[in-house]
Amino acid sequence: MGSGQVTDWQGKHVTVAGLGVSGVPAARALHGLGAEVTVVNDGDDARAREQAAELEALGVTVRLGDGETLPDGTELIVTAPGWRPDKPLFAAADRAGVPVWGDVELAWRLRGPDAAPWLAVTGTNGKTTTVQMLASILEAAGLRTAAVGNIGVSLLDAVLGEERYDVLAVELSSYQLHWAPSPRAHSAAVLNLAPDHLDWHGSMEAYARDKGRVYEGNRVACVYNADATGKPSTEDLVREADVEEGCRAVGFTLGAPGPSQLGVVEGILVDRAFVENRQRNAQELAEVSDVNPPAPHNIANALAAAALARAYGVPASAVRDGLRAFTPDAHRIAHVADVDGVTYIDDSKATNTHAAEASLAAYDSIVWIAGGLAKGATFDELVGGAAKRLRGAVLIGRDRALIREALARHAPEVPVVDLGRTDTGAMLQAVQEAQRLARPGDTVLLAPACASMDMFANYNKRGDAFAQAVRELGA
Ligand code: ADP
Repeated sequence: MGSGQVTDWQGKHVTVAGLGVSGVPAARALHGLGAEVTVVNDGDDARAREQAAELEALGVTVRLGDGETLPDGTELIVTAPGWRPDKPLFAAADRAGVPVWGDVELAWRLRGPDAAPWLAVTGTNGKTTTVQMLASILEAAGLRTAAVGNIGVSLLDAVLGEERYDVLAVELSSYQLHWAPSPRAHSAAVLNLAPDHLDWHGSMEAYARDKGRVYEGNRVACVYNADATGKPSTEDLVREADVEEGCRAVGFTLGAPGPSQLGVVEGILVDRAFVENRQRNAQELAEVSDVNPPAPHNIANALAAAALARAYGVPASAVRDGLRAFTPDAHRIAHVADVDGVTYIDDSKATNTHAAEASLAAYDSIVWIAGGLAKGATFDELVGGAAKRLRGAVLIGRDRALIREALARHAPEVPVVDLGRTDTGAMLQAVQEAQRLARPGDTVLLAPACASMDMFANYNKRGDAFAQAVRELGA
């Protein structure tokens, strides 16, 4: 089962590691193919029991509360993408010569003979936005498509379902790529690379290597970020990838594009990659104002989506129509309200410093609401880069001292309110303090640069609390 297509699943002993978004469809699909499926799961809570009961009714064996022991006779493990590679279960699999596939690998192996090609997107930030923009562009071109993968829509369901697709817009996380050696996308993009999830991957090199997997075997285009300065760059990852003969490297830039790039010229998104005679010609795709919101990082996302769509052969007019039709998901630079001349923006999804850096770069005079769980991050670079644009800062959450110290070092003149509370009601006080610091024309920006789980169930709830607090100001 290590490589090649598995055609006969009858009686194969497959262990599905982890219930949840990917585990339940995987167990169901494998059981449907005739495999002997055992699901193992670390947790044993109410939700797990409910899912277990559902699977057991089909005849699947489920072991709750022990995700570490390899069931006897296992021939293949299909793991939830988030499971860390250093788990004892995988060491046991390795000793026993049992291959481990992730949910994406399984979807790739089970797809039918006329399966829709994949246009794949990965990166540290902007993945969901970009695949949604891409799907919107493909739809505008009249193609049957869906945004699937790490955005909460099971890739396996899309691959095995009744619905016929021409092409899929696939979001892949670094975890999913780690466990997926085989998939070959039509074309793929790595949007950006900044340190994230390093505890899981072990090192920046390992993280970059897993992201770079998305380019392996690409047929038409490997789309990279021509403005990125980090090492390795996304262009380095393209160079290292083993692609199909004739596959091109295509860059995107916020500046004027060179040949084989997409970029921006005088407020117009232009394509110098998928045109006749790219040394001399360029094709206008859309205006910057067609991108919602037209913040720099989001224009980069739009260019990456456009590059993948163009690689697939979509006309320029569909890029424009698709971008115009696109509305971003909640909590991603969402405009909440204007109160007394101050604009309130919810970017609760900025859960790491790289994302917060992008949204802080989008406004000129900011009262910044930040803090939460830092996940091992440092804040010097972020604060140093934004210092000039900060009117003030309001700090919330458990690791707020890290941000306070960075502000003291790099922006000592910026007034800081440190809310010494982490209860849910703290958000209302944070917004009131931000209002006090703000002057007309300013933006109050929730871009926490941290995870939310110290105070909220998730980033959605954090953003909702912010929006609710802003509404109370207005009332
Ligand atoms: P992902 O799916 O990769 O988490 P999202 O599209 O959900 O990405 O955006 C997450 C956050 O990252 C947004 O709230 C925004 O602040 C930030 N972001 C989006 N696109 C980019 C980008 N290209 N570069 C940097 N930050 C970005």
